[in-house]
Amino acid sequence: MIKSKQLERPSLVHKGIWTPWAELLCYECHGRNFSSGQLSDWQWEIHTNPLDLTELNRITTCDRCARPIQVYDEVAEEHNMALTLKEHGIDAVMEQTGGMNSACRVNKIDEREMISDDEDCAFYLIGFNKDGDKQYILSSYDEEYAYIPEDDFQCGTKNEMVSHI
Ligand SMILES: [Zn+2]
Repeated sequence: MIKSKQLERPSLVHKGIWTPWAELLCYECHGRNFSSGQLSDWQWEIHTNPLDLTELNRITTCDRCARPIQVYDEVAEEHNMALTLKEHGIDAVMEQTGGMNSACRVNKIDEREMISDDEDCAFYLIGFNKDGDKQYILSSYDEEYAYIPEDDFQCGTKNEMVSHI
């Protein structure tokens, strides 16, 4: 008997890259050149072949070729959140939040996305596992990127967050 969990979580997955310009890419779509230098032939060989899914990583998809890739759990879950929200017609994108940190940004563009009563609220950031507790946390910000404390929402599953939005 085949267990469906094994099908959902393939053990060999290409490594992915969280780029400074907020894309998630497989190595083939990114290319060999990095700001720190060019990958050698053996590094390229390692990174362009699927590897065991590590404990710290989770699976999402490459922004350009849609192949499954593994990246750190927080950036994978935030990216998966953005993809799901986009499927629901919500303006969600990945954002660099400083120091290569990541978040799923939800732009407040219509009534449907009005979570906050605060008139100054311009957008939300959703982060995953920021405190090591595997929680999704939504926070509100104004146009100047100032944090609005009242509107935080926290939950343990992607579905709960999608329902909240
Ligand atoms: Zn790719």
